[in-house]
Amino acid sequence: MNDCVFCKIVAGEIPSTKVYEDDEILIFKDIAPLAKIHLLCVPKEHFAYLSELDPARAALLGRTLEKIGKLQGELGLGGGYRLVVNQGEHAGQTVRHLHIHILGGEDLPWEK
Ligand code: 5GP
Ligand code: ZN
Repeated sequence: MNDCVFCKIVAGEIPSTKVYEDDEILIFKDIAPLAKIHLLCVPKEHFAYLSELDPARAALLGRTLEKIGKLQGELGLGGGYRLVVNQGEHAGQTVRHLHIHILGGEDLPWEK
């Protein structure tokens, strides 16, 4: 997707602070952190919504969650973490490329 900021980050056309990368996902620091640790995990393939999942993407998402769990210590999230996936207008999704917010590094407030 030509005008997608996360596709550009995946392609290296926009700089980011990468903390993990493999052939199918990238994890990088959020530019406007909402917690001491605020990372974004994106599939390299462009799609925006969970409603676009097919079996292959669902399997990718499963591997992604497994990978985040395995990276917990390495990412400095030994004290715990929160995953957030905003979907659409009501959730305030601003980037239409599926991404998992990974928040931690401190006690997190629970707000709506
Ligand atoms: P959303 O509101 O769509 O769930 O989250 C989008 C997130 O992407 C926001 O937390 C925002 O700070 C982050 N973001 C937007 N543009 C960039 C960018 O160019 N670089 C990085 N690292 N993060 C970005
Ligand atoms: Zn994209």
